[in-house]
Amino acid sequence: MIEKIRRYLEQKLGKHIEMSVIRSRKILIQKKQKSDAITIVLNKIFLDAPEETLSIISDFLTGKNKKIARRHLIEYAHKTMRETLKEKNFVVSGKFFNLKEIFARLNQQYFNNLITSKITFGKRCKKERTSSIVFGNYSPQLNIIRINRSLDQDFVPEYFIEYIVFHEMLHAYMHLSSKGKKSTGHSKKFKEMEKIYPDLEKAEQWKRKNLNFFINANKGKKCLEN
Ligand SMILES: [Zn+2]
Repeated sequence: MIEKIRRYLEQKLGKHIEMSVIRSRKILIQKKQKSDAITIVLNKIFLDAPEETLSIISDFLTGKNKKIARRHLIEYAHKTMRETLKEKNFVVSGKFFNLKEIFARLNQQYFNNLITSKITFGKRCKKERTSSIVFGNYSPQLNIIRINRSLDQDFVPEYFIEYIVFHEMLHAYMHLSSKGKKSTGHSKKFKEMEKIYPDLEKAEQWKRKNLNFFINANKGKKCLEN
Protein backbone atom coordinates (compact mmCIF):
# COMPACT_ATOMS: atom_id res chain seq x y z
CA MET A 1 0.00 0.00 0.00
CA ILE A 2 2.76 2.44 0.88
CA GLU A 3 4.40 1.81 -2.48
CA LYS A 4 1.12 2.58 -4.21
CA ILE A 5 0.83 5.86 -2.33
CA ARG A 6 4.47 6.68 -3.02
CA ARG A 7 4.05 6.19 -6.76
CA TYR A 8 0.79 8.12 -6.77
CA LEU A 9 2.40 11.12 -5.06
CA GLU A 10 5.52 10.86 -7.20
CA GLN A 11 3.39 11.16 -10.28
CA LYS A 12 1.42 14.10 -8.87
CA LEU A 13 4.44 16.00 -7.60
CA GLY A 14 6.71 15.10 -10.49
CA LYS A 15 9.65 14.44 -8.20
CA HIS A 16 11.39 11.46 -6.72
CA ILE A 17 9.84 10.64 -3.37
CA GLU A 18 11.05 8.57 -0.47
CA MET A 19 8.51 7.59 2.09
CA SER A 20 8.30 6.28 5.59
CA VAL A 21 5.38 5.59 7.87
CA ILE A 22 4.98 6.61 11.50
CA ARG A 23 2.56 5.91 14.28
CA SER A 24 1.86 9.18 15.96
CA ARG A 25 -0.91 11.10 17.64
CA LYS A 26 0.55 14.42 16.61
CA ILE A 27 2.26 14.20 13.26
CA LEU A 28 0.09 13.56 10.22
CA ILE A 29 2.43 14.39 7.37
CA GLN A 30 5.94 15.77 7.21
CA LYS A 31 7.74 16.83 4.09
CA LYS A 32 11.47 17.31 3.87
CA GLN A 33 12.77 18.65 0.63
CA LYS A 34 16.25 18.40 -0.77
CA SER A 35 17.13 19.74 -4.19
CA ASP A 36 15.92 16.83 -6.26
CA ALA A 37 14.24 14.48 -3.81
CA ILE A 38 11.45 14.70 -1.30
CA THR A 39 11.16 12.66 1.84
CA ILE A 40 7.66 12.24 3.17
CA VAL A 41 6.78 10.90 6.57
CA LEU A 42 3.19 9.72 6.54
CA ASN A 43 1.01 8.80 9.48
CA LYS A 44 -0.08 5.15 9.49
CA ILE A 45 -3.75 6.13 9.43
CA PHE A 46 -3.43 7.18 5.78
CA LEU A 47 -2.36 3.76 4.59
CA ASP A 48 -5.94 2.72 3.90
CA ALA A 49 -7.08 6.12 2.73
CA PRO A 50 -9.31 6.32 -0.35
CA GLU A 51 -8.04 7.94 -3.53
CA GLU A 52 -9.96 11.10 -2.70
CA THR A 53 -7.90 11.54 0.46
CA LEU A 54 -4.66 10.81 -1.40
CA SER A 55 -5.53 13.57 -3.79
CA ILE A 56 -5.98 15.91 -0.82
CA ILE A 57 -2.58 14.82 0.51
CA SER A 58 -1.09 15.73 -2.84
CA ASP A 59 -2.81 19.15 -2.72
CA PHE A 60 -1.39 19.66 0.73
CA LEU A 61 2.13 18.73 -0.37
CA THR A 62 2.09 20.90 -3.48
CA GLY A 63 0.67 23.79 -1.49
CA LYS A 64 -2.47 23.93 -3.62
CA ASN A 65 -5.49 24.71 -1.44
CA LYS A 66 -3.22 24.07 1.49
CA LYS A 67 -5.56 25.44 4.15
CA ILE A 68 -8.56 23.45 2.98
CA ALA A 69 -6.41 20.37 2.43
CA ARG A 70 -5.04 20.60 5.96
CA ARG A 71 -8.52 20.85 7.41
CA HIS A 72 -9.70 17.81 5.42
CA LEU A 73 -6.70 15.77 6.52
CA ILE A 74 -7.26 16.63 10.18
CA GLU A 75 -10.92 15.66 9.85
CA TYR A 76 -9.98 12.38 8.20
CA ALA A 77 -7.44 11.71 10.96
CA HIS A 78 -9.93 12.30 13.75
CA LYS A 79 -12.57 10.16 12.12
CA THR A 80 -10.16 7.31 11.54
CA MET A 81 -8.63 7.52 15.00
CA ARG A 82 -12.06 7.43 16.55
CA GLU A 83 -13.02 4.35 14.55
CA THR A 84 -9.88 2.52 15.53
CA LEU A 85 -10.23 3.23 19.23
CA LYS A 86 -11.12 -0.20 20.41
CA GLU A 87 -13.73 -0.78 23.05
CA LYS A 88 -11.44 -3.29 24.70
CA ASN A 89 -9.06 -0.48 25.54
CA PHE A 90 -11.75 1.31 27.45
CA VAL A 91 -11.63 0.86 31.18
CA VAL A 92 -15.01 1.73 32.60
CA SER A 93 -14.97 -0.37 35.70
CA GLY A 94 -12.43 0.37 38.39
CA LYS A 95 -11.99 -1.23 41.79
CA PHE A 96 -14.43 1.12 43.46
CA PHE A 97 -16.30 3.01 40.78
CA ASN A 98 -18.01 2.14 37.53
CA LEU A 99 -17.80 5.05 35.13
CA LYS A 100 -20.43 3.73 32.76
CA GLU A 101 -23.00 3.57 35.55
CA ILE A 102 -22.14 7.05 36.78
CA PHE A 103 -22.28 8.37 33.20
CA ALA A 104 -25.65 6.73 32.47
CA ARG A 105 -27.16 8.05 35.69
CA LEU A 106 -25.98 11.62 35.09
CA ASN A 107 -26.94 11.49 31.43
CA GLN A 108 -30.49 10.62 32.34
CA GLN A 109 -30.76 12.95 35.28
CA TYR A 110 -29.23 16.11 33.80
CA PHE A 111 -28.73 15.77 30.06
CA ASN A 112 -31.88 14.12 28.76
CA ASN A 113 -29.65 11.24 27.56
CA LEU A 114 -28.21 13.52 24.90
CA ILE A 115 -24.52 12.88 25.62
CA THR A 116 -23.08 10.27 23.29
CA SER A 117 -19.48 10.37 24.51
CA LYS A 118 -17.51 7.34 25.48
CA ILE A 119 -15.95 7.28 28.90
CA THR A 120 -12.87 5.59 30.25
CA PHE A 121 -10.31 5.79 33.00
CA GLY A 122 -7.12 7.29 31.64
CA LYS A 123 -3.85 5.48 31.49
CA ARG A 124 -1.95 5.06 34.72
CA CYS A 125 -0.35 8.21 35.94
CA LYS A 126 3.17 8.94 35.07
CA LYS A 127 5.05 10.71 37.77
CA GLU A 128 4.43 14.36 37.18
CA ARG A 129 6.87 17.07 38.00
CA THR A 130 4.19 19.71 37.90
CA SER A 131 2.29 20.64 41.00
CA SER A 132 -1.13 20.21 39.49
CA ILE A 133 -3.37 17.33 38.57
CA VAL A 134 -6.00 16.88 35.90
CA PHE A 135 -8.90 14.81 37.18
CA GLY A 136 -10.68 14.55 33.88
CA ASN A 137 -10.74 15.77 30.32
CA TYR A 138 -12.99 15.79 27.30
CA SER A 139 -11.80 15.47 23.73
CA PRO A 140 -14.36 16.99 21.35
CA GLN A 141 -12.60 15.50 18.32
CA LEU A 142 -12.82 11.97 19.64
CA ASN A 143 -15.87 12.56 21.81
CA ILE A 144 -14.22 10.81 24.71
CA ILE A 145 -14.21 11.59 28.41
CA ARG A 146 -11.16 10.45 30.32
CA ILE A 147 -11.16 10.26 34.09
CA ASN A 148 -7.98 10.16 36.15
CA ARG A 149 -7.47 6.69 37.52
CA SER A 150 -6.23 7.99 40.85
CA LEU A 151 -9.87 8.79 41.66
CA ASP A 152 -10.64 5.08 41.85
CA GLN A 153 -9.81 4.79 45.54
CA ASP A 154 -11.89 3.90 48.57
CA PHE A 155 -11.47 7.25 50.32
CA VAL A 156 -12.77 9.21 47.31
CA PRO A 157 -16.42 10.04 47.94
CA GLU A 158 -18.82 9.09 45.19
CA TYR A 159 -20.10 12.67 44.89
CA PHE A 160 -16.60 13.81 43.98
CA ILE A 161 -15.88 11.41 41.11
CA GLU A 162 -19.48 11.94 40.01
CA TYR A 163 -18.85 15.68 39.96
CA ILE A 164 -15.74 15.21 37.80
CA VAL A 165 -17.73 13.08 35.34
CA PHE A 166 -20.56 15.64 35.38
CA HIS A 167 -18.10 18.46 34.68
CA GLU A 168 -16.66 16.66 31.64
CA MET A 169 -20.15 15.73 30.40
CA LEU A 170 -21.03 19.39 30.58
CA HIS A 171 -18.07 20.13 28.29
CA ALA A 172 -19.46 17.51 25.88
CA TYR A 173 -22.91 19.07 26.15
CA MET A 174 -21.60 22.56 25.48
CA HIS A 175 -19.69 21.26 22.49
CA LEU A 176 -22.83 19.62 21.14
CA SER A 177 -24.89 22.75 21.51
CA SER A 178 -22.18 24.98 20.03
CA LYS A 179 -22.65 23.09 16.73
CA GLY A 180 -18.99 22.69 15.93
CA LYS A 181 -18.00 26.21 16.85
CA LYS A 182 -14.96 26.63 19.03
CA SER A 183 -15.26 25.05 22.43
CA THR A 184 -16.38 27.51 25.03
CA GLY A 185 -14.20 26.30 27.91
CA HIS A 186 -15.33 27.45 31.34
CA SER A 187 -17.53 30.23 30.06
CA LYS A 188 -20.08 32.12 32.10
CA LYS A 189 -22.77 29.85 30.70
CA PHE A 190 -20.73 26.78 31.62
CA LYS A 191 -20.33 27.91 35.20
CA GLU A 192 -24.00 28.79 35.38
CA MET A 193 -25.03 25.34 34.17
CA GLU A 194 -22.56 23.62 36.44
CA LYS A 195 -24.61 24.87 39.38
CA ILE A 196 -27.37 22.39 38.60
CA TYR A 197 -25.12 19.73 40.10
CA PRO A 198 -26.37 19.65 43.70
CA ASP A 199 -23.07 18.60 45.32
CA LEU A 200 -20.97 21.20 43.50
CA GLU A 201 -20.01 23.09 46.67
CA LYS A 202 -19.27 19.92 48.61
CA ALA A 203 -17.18 18.57 45.76
CA GLU A 204 -15.16 21.75 45.44
CA GLN A 205 -14.54 21.76 49.16
CA TRP A 206 -13.37 18.17 49.10
CA LYS A 207 -11.10 18.99 46.21
CA ARG A 208 -9.49 21.91 48.03
CA LYS A 209 -8.92 19.74 51.09
CA ASN A 210 -7.46 16.78 49.22
CA LEU A 211 -5.75 18.24 46.19
CA ASN A 212 -2.34 18.10 47.82
CA PHE A 213 -2.74 14.41 48.52
CA PHE A 214 -3.16 13.67 44.82
CA ILE A 215 -0.31 15.93 43.87
CA ASN A 216 1.98 14.42 46.49
CA ALA A 217 0.92 10.89 45.63
CA ASN A 218 2.03 11.64 42.12
CA LYS A 219 5.42 12.57 43.46
CA GLY A 220 5.59 9.22 45.22
CA LYS A 221 4.95 10.46 48.73
CA LYS A 222 2.33 9.01 50.99
CA CYS A 223 -0.18 11.03 52.93
CA LEU A 224 -3.86 10.80 53.33
CA GLU A 225 -6.53 13.14 54.43
CA ASN A 226 -10.13 12.25 54.46
ZN1 LIG B 1 -13.33 21.85 32.55
